[in-house]
Amino acid sequence: MRRKQCTQYSIVFMQLTFGMKIGDYMKIMDLHSHTYFSNCGRDEPETIIDAAAEGGIELFGITDHNYGINEREVEYSRLINSMKEPYADRIKLLCGIEIATLPDYYNMKEEEYKLFDFCLIENVGWEGTITKDCFFEFMEKIPIKKGIAHTDLFAYAETIGMTPFDFFKKMADSGIFWEMNVSYDSIHNYREHPYMLEFFEDPKKQDIIRDAKVVISVGFDGHRVEDYLPPRIKEYCLKLGEMKLKTADELFK
Ligand SMILES: [Zn+2]
Ligand SMILES: [Zn+2]
Repeated sequence: MRRKQCTQYSIVFMQLTFGMKIGDYMKIMDLHSHTYFSNCGRDEPETIIDAAAEGGIELFGITDHNYGINEREVEYSRLINSMKEPYADRIKLLCGIEIATLPDYYNMKEEEYKLFDFCLIENVGWEGTITKDCFFEFMEKIPIKKGIAHTDLFAYAETIGMTPFDFFKKMADSGIFWEMNVSYDSIHNYREHPYMLEFFEDPKKQDIIRDAKVVISVGFDGHRVEDYLPPRIKEYCLKLGEMKLKTADELFK
């Protein structure tokens, strides 16, 4: 009896603290990380999966660069997928891919997408991206779950002449999630993305995302296990929980 009460109290405490509903527990997620399959990465998959599991990450997506994986997409996907089961009681693993959309780097064939649980699209808004003038058309053709990596989408919406709300509403309707990239590591010179910092500071932006029902993911974008900071990921995941936003862990239940 006493134990039951304790459990109830702790659930109420979590609700008050993190704004969670009973049965609506948000998983601590990191949906952006690199291994030696990326030219700029060097860790074995097991090394970073172990670091994530030990750091309390519950949902972990490995997302090597498409132009690092190159012809090895079947090998990569088989390897990452083969680790899901052995790790299942410690961490839920996803096989993702980060896809560059600059013409010299984009090499995806439609059937290859299906080797992955999800993809992160990058270079949106860059000079020369193949998504220029066709962002939603490009995204809608992707046959798996998809998100936009490390991009200030409030600024991007304006450049394509849409109000932020209309843009984000269309994103939600098109099943595109948005990454809050919380990287803080040597390979990125310890810079923090300004769009991410601004988002967490700006209740108006948070209202727009909440009203548009856009799904938000968190990613550390790790390239070196010695730089990996799971407590930082946890902190930002819990902030999203407090804000009562839709979070990408829901997509992978
Ligand atoms: Zn990237
Ligand atoms: Zn990355």
